[in-house]
Amino acid sequence: MIDINNLIRENIRNMKAYSSARDEYKGKDATFLDANENPFNFPLNRYPDPLQRDLKDVLAKIKRVDADQIFLGNGSDEAIDLLMRIFCEPGKDSIVSIDPSYGMYKVCANINNITIREVSLNKDFSLDTDALLKAADASTKMMIICSPNNPTANLFNKNDILKLIKNFKGLFIIDEAYLDFCTDIGFVSSLKDYNNLVILQTFSKAWGMAGIRLGMALASKDIIALLNKIKYPYNVSIITQGIALKVLRYGIKEKDSWVKIILKEKEKVREGLLQFPFVRKIHPSDTNFLLVETDDPRKLYEYLVLCKIIVRDRSTVHLCDSCLRFTIGSPKETKQLFKALKSYLKNK
Ligand SMILES: *Cc1c(COP(=O)(O)O)cnc(C)c1O
Repeated sequence: MIDINNLIRENIRNMKAYSSARDEYKGKDATFLDANENPFNFPLNRYPDPLQRDLKDVLAKIKRVDADQIFLGNGSDEAIDLLMRIFCEPGKDSIVSIDPSYGMYKVCANINNITIREVSLNKDFSLDTDALLKAADASTKMMIICSPNNPTANLFNKNDILKLIKNFKGLFIIDEAYLDFCTDIGFVSSLKDYNNLVILQTFSKAWGMAGIRLGMALASKDIIALLNKIKYPYNVSIITQGIALKVLRYGIKEKDSWVKIILKEKEKVREGLLQFPFVRKIHPSDTNFLLVETDDPRKLYEYLVLCKIIVRDRSTVHLCDSCLRFTIGSPKETKQLFKALKSYLKNK
């Protein structure tokens, strides 16, 4: 067990949270004259439930955790930022992550003036667990590992991650944004064993709802209480809560069928790409994208832009020399991609 209280910044530990009107009276049927809302234009006139209780009740059943082990935010990016603000003293503390990985960790650390130590993955994209543990010192409050990782597309070895959780003395965060696209069950079921573990998941990828901005952190109820303590009171809008609730109640089958289609499409894209002589290598993928090593990636990228097909140029990213990242689209979009690649080959 890790003493979480000891890891928290002192000002956060000592502060009192803002108490909103809707925090003080929690019932639903009443005449609300407490929050200076407009009485017209129902239901958008009302502030949303600050703790999104209805949504969390449904999610708790799906994720097999208690509702008070769930934080919901404006994308999982909000949770990343809040965690840094709870645990890391600006100008003093540090976090450890991997290189390459999701760019937001570094941006968020930079905004908060927290040192980020990025430990290189091994050449085969596996975790260098010894180097990661060695990079952590007394100032290191958090370690963030994205698995399956963006942009390398691979799921990390479970025992490697367990070794890190067990040996790191701070908050251990696993970003599972892409978990729905692989067969692994991830680490939510390990929350009961480690009180320093935080799992990030999102509605932006498999659920197909990047536009509503909804992400979650799953953790011990003590850590969730801290996130709730410092978040903006009404951080998830009525519209977002309403849409998510509907989708969780009636749309799980649809999500599963989307994932199936995307995974099937991924194999088609992989086979198709390998037919082109300028494609050198396609990395194994546990996600909804392929990291593809090509000849002259910049030229290919720019040609595709001319064809109005936008992929992600990762060729200057550490360990991703000459790589473009292709998100898997619909069957129709795959056809458009291949058409453009064929014309690139002809005109090259
Ligand atoms: C896409 C992605 C997310 C999702 O972020 P949201 O803010 O929830 O949209 C989180 N982590 C990683 C690694 C991602 O690639």
